[in-house]
Amino acid sequence: MASGEKASTASATVQKDDSQLRQKRMIADHFTRLARAPETGEKSVYTFVPGNLTELLRCFDLLPVLPEINALQSAMRGKSKAYIALAEKLGHSEDVCTYVKCDVGMMKSGNVGPTGEHLPNPDLLLLSYTGCFTFLKWFEILRQEYDAPIALLHVPYQADGKITDAMRRYVVDQLRDKIIPELERLSGRKYDEDRLKELLSRSVEAEDDLVWVLQSARNRPSPIDAYFGGVYYIGPIFTAFRGSQEAVDYYRTLRSEIESRLEQRLGPVTPDGEIDEERFRIVVEGPPNWTHFREFWRMFADEGAVVVASSYTKVGGVYDFGFRHDPERPLETLAEYCMGCYTNLNLPSRVEMLTRYVLDYDADGLLINSIKSCNSFSAGQLMILREVENRTGRPGGFIESDLVDPRYFSSSNIKTRLESYFQMIEQKRSGAVA
Ligand code: SF4
Repeated sequence: MASGEKASTASATVQKDDSQLRQKRMIADHFTRLARAPETGEKSVYTFVPGNLTELLRCFDLLPVLPEINALQSAMRGKSKAYIALAEKLGHSEDVCTYVKCDVGMMKSGNVGPTGEHLPNPDLLLLSYTGCFTFLKWFEILRQEYDAPIALLHVPYQADGKITDAMRRYVVDQLRDKIIPELERLSGRKYDEDRLKELLSRSVEAEDDLVWVLQSARNRPSPIDAYFGGVYYIGPIFTAFRGSQEAVDYYRTLRSEIESRLEQRLGPVTPDGEIDEERFRIVVEGPPNWTHFREFWRMFADEGAVVVASSYTKVGGVYDFGFRHDPERPLETLAEYCMGCYTNLNLPSRVEMLTRYVLDYDADGLLINSIKSCNSFSAGQLMILREVENRTGRPGGFIESDLVDPRYFSSSNIKTRLESYFQMIEQKRSGAVA
């Protein structure tokens, strides 16, 4: 029996781990707090995942709202199609990033968040601009809709693949002279650097455990899927919870669960059960499709294909090459974090990173999921593919889908391409392909 069949038969017995339940509770509590904000007087700040300043917001007791997360959650709940259609009716072109259209459609439909509760209007749009021009346009639209102020943190692109002192100073100056005064004004509190240091220390603890979990995929079999499972693992740290004790506890719990899977030599858990035969080890570049997330995952699981590393799980911070927030240099470390996230890296750095993943995780090859509406990820992907193939000698694969627009997910097409890719890997193993 193929591993996928085994996975399906086990679906009835799949149980949620403690870490999953914990994460669910954290998210529910956060959204309840947001829904009550108009009565409690708590202020909400809309901001993006890459290069977010969660610890700084927490330092002022401000509540983060992440529009990208709302968009992907809408897609997972089957709501994005109608939201996108509404945004297009309002004049947003087919070429616009579908996260933006999904967010606009959600807002125009009453701004109900992923848990079914209302989201508060933003008191501030905090735009830490990291590599993607769409972020600027997105918040321009929201500013008009909500009449909310924007605070812009301009993060220099790592064009030469490194962070210079001048770049760091440039970001720190903006944090100190523009962003912090804006947060003081909004919250009515003074900036407390000791508090920020405390929050950053908690970030480090969570980051250490997350990296351990992601790197557990170096084992054979890998106890995790670092793409489909990985998107759940990065949830708390890339969104509203970095710097919180809940995030520390979540990652500690997750780590101990994965340690136990590793000891028992168990493969990853999928929504349909366990993968008990690891046939292919793949590195994936590009965000996942959210409208058919389970079906997409199943296409891999059915073939015994496990993703051992992915670039998407670095979109809100690259930690596995050593970066950790440094509580002793609070503003400098925030600046370095913003400049270091994946969307802010140039193409040679991305090639370097993906090559390392293929070699370090002993993967069979690199697979690219090219996202129609995300230029930030898709630009240069064919070059990346060829370059990583050349450097590793391992075959690359290419599929196309979209983030949250179901019109661009063609199941049969993707399945056929994946099957051909896995066949190619097998042929290569048997020496049939040079
Ligand atoms: S284009 Fe890509 S990186 Fe930019 S906002 Fe859209 S999904 Fe995010």
